[in-house]
Amino acid sequence: MITKFIKRILRRDPMIRHTAAHTSGAPKRVPKKTHRIDPDLLSKNAVKVTQTLQQAGYDAFIVGGAVRDLALGIGPKDFDVATNATPEQVQKLFRKARLIGRRFQIVHVTFFGKGQPEIIEVSTFRALLENAGEHVAENGRILRDNVWGSQHEDAARRDFSINAMYYDPATETVLDYHGGMADMQKKTLRMIGDPAKRYREDPIRMLRAIRFAAKTGFTLDAATRAPIAKLGKLIHDVPSARLFDEILKLLMSGYSWAAIQGLKDAGLHHGLLPLLDHILDQSADSQEANDFVRIALANTDERIQSGKSVSAGFLFATLLWPDLLNNWKKNIAKGISNIPALHDAMDETIASQSSGMVIQRRFESDMREIWSMQSRFEKRVGRYPYRLIESPRFRAGYDFMLLRCATGEKNPALGEWWSSFIASDPAEQEALMASVKNETGNSAAPTKKRRRRKAKVAVPSESAAD
Ligand code: ATP
Ligand code: MG
Repeated sequence: MITKFIKRILRRDPMIRHTAAHTSGAPKRVPKKTHRIDPDLLSKNAVKVTQTLQQAGYDAFIVGGAVRDLALGIGPKDFDVATNATPEQVQKLFRKARLIGRRFQIVHVTFFGKGQPEIIEVSTFRALLENAGEHVAENGRILRDNVWGSQHEDAARRDFSINAMYYDPATETVLDYHGGMADMQKKTLRMIGDPAKRYREDPIRMLRAIRFAAKTGFTLDAATRAPIAKLGKLIHDVPSARLFDEILKLLMSGYSWAAIQGLKDAGLHHGLLPLLDHILDQSADSQEANDFVRIALANTDERIQSGKSVSAGFLFATLLWPDLLNNWKKNIAKGISNIPALHDAMDETIASQSSGMVIQRRFESDMREIWSMQSRFEKRVGRYPYRLIESPRFRAGYDFMLLRCATGEKNPALGEWWSSFIASDPAEQEALMASVKNETGNSAAPTKKRRRRKAKVAVPSESAAD
């Protein structure tokens, strides 16, 4: 014990330097028989990180959402570790460790195994805001924040009581600073401290409240919920990249439909994404759009919950599809031919989003590819189907088309035809193409050869082939 203390002083341990005024508020020690965390759900690498830090004389715990999920019996998607070692001290203990971040300096420790590398995020206990006065703006927003503190202070800086529990894999004990275990039992999501003050410090916490309520099925505690109606507008002061990341987390949480309903109930959806305004206002004429988005999101939730991947580009393509379809139809009604009408509609739909939260470029190109493929699924003769299958993003376009069939926008026979076509040998594919040759959209579609022949006799317009 004494050597551990001396070791700390020699290392100029941050805990020794900052905790003098904050030693009160001992946590509740929750034993295994109460928290029932299954050690098999732990990441071996996260355990390795806590062990290494503890063997070097530091305190180290698994913390945050991982403990919440473990206590709920869910395997966490990632693991965070909190420690009293400074980022530099952490970095020295691991081979693959990288210091990242400016506002919150943390260490990413990477482990390479069979599948994807696993990153364990290690953060140093943070001090209370009062100890970092000069870093807080007039409106209460946190600006800069690299003052290390005690574990007790660190717990008070976290958002919800169920996110402020610390698990020590060595003793299988949970340290519970803010009654997280009791709230878990009551199925309540409760903000630590004064909720209004905490939302002013970081308005993104309002979106986190809705996301966690949807994910856990817990109810927002009345005092946690109350200030949101008044403070919701502060969300628009959050930098758009951070807001975008949070919305993406919400949509990819596996509980997106419940979370969107939660946003709507809290009055938070306005101006986040123009399409959410559009869809959730549920005017009579948008019922069809609503159905499409609901089925698309349910499909996304199901994929995520069963461990399948979902691309953000695909997801945004579905959310904006009703709007795009509307624009596409309007353009055709104006006399623009099919494909140019679709491309104009894509530009219009994307432009309409820029008044709200901008969808990032990397997703925009995915969305355009998925959308532009849609008109090509109609053509099921000649070389068209073969060319379409060869497109690099065919799978995403195909899944999207199946979704349109599932929602009733397209005849399910179209989806069935393509599913058979993909699974067939060349002779069967010929037969499939012959079976639809005389359907609308296909009779006018020439093979490349025929088109050339027609061109020789100077056909004035090729728009019929579009
Ligand atoms: P998940 O990873 O499932 O989305 P999480 O709770 O782990 O949920 P992270 O964003 O990974 O969420 O954050 C890890 C922990 O850091 C949280 O559990 C919480 O204790 C703390 N935290 C994160 N963001 C905030 C915030 N804006 N305000 C206060 N504490 C936060
Ligand atoms: Mg997390």
